[in-house]
Amino acid sequence: MEKVEILNIRIDNVTMDEAYRNILVFLKEDRRHIVYTPNAEIIMAAQRDRSLVDVLNFSDLNVPDGIGVVMASRLYGCRIKERVAGFDLMNYILKNAPAEGYSVYFLGGKPGVAEKAAKKAVSMYGEINIAGFHDGYFDRMEEKRVIEEINSRGVDFLFVGLGAPKQERWIYEHPEIKAKVIMGVGGSFDVLAG
Ligand code: UDP
Repeated sequence: MEKVEILNIRIDNVTMDEAYRNILVFLKEDRRHIVYTPNAEIIMAAQRDRSLVDVLNFSDLNVPDGIGVVMASRLYGCRIKERVAGFDLMNYILKNAPAEGYSVYFLGGKPGVAEKAAKKAVSMYGEINIAGFHDGYFDRMEEKRVIEEINSRGVDFLFVGLGAPKQERWIYEHPEIKAKVIMGVGGSFDVLAG
């Protein structure tokens, strides 16, 4: 996989199809994988707060989210093939979920939003194995319970919509979470729930 570093953040030069093909490989491996969707905004945030550089580079796949990243790649002598928006990648996965039997957990957003997004995905794409959902506002006790729930359900995809960079840090700081693929999706549940 070709990579480019933009202001110290690794971006993987993948198209949507290639991103998905990488994710299929992740599903076959017996460990957790992290997918982030860095955009220009978070790359700039990492210049102000260097601890974010390690967090972002810790992932298994960083797709180029946004035209800013595509343009910036040219300055670094790399032509990023296409913009792969996090929202689109999440939908690509959800679209394939009924046929492939993926189990999916939706975590984040205001109370009710993750559930609504999960139901919307089912109505759009067909019967998806919904492993669970929970809003993105929890205290330590509730956090522990949610992580136990995720870990007990054999989750293929855990979508984390706590906003950037909160979700990236949260995923990084919780290595005990067991899901084949954990992906930061920002405000995508709000959009999907409509
Ligand atoms: N959010 C959350 N918990 C928090 C803070 C934010 O679940 O503690 C959710 C919020 O409800 C919204 C999303 O995170 O759904 C942030 O959306 P935004 O579009 O601002 O984030 P971005 O897509 O820019 O990362």
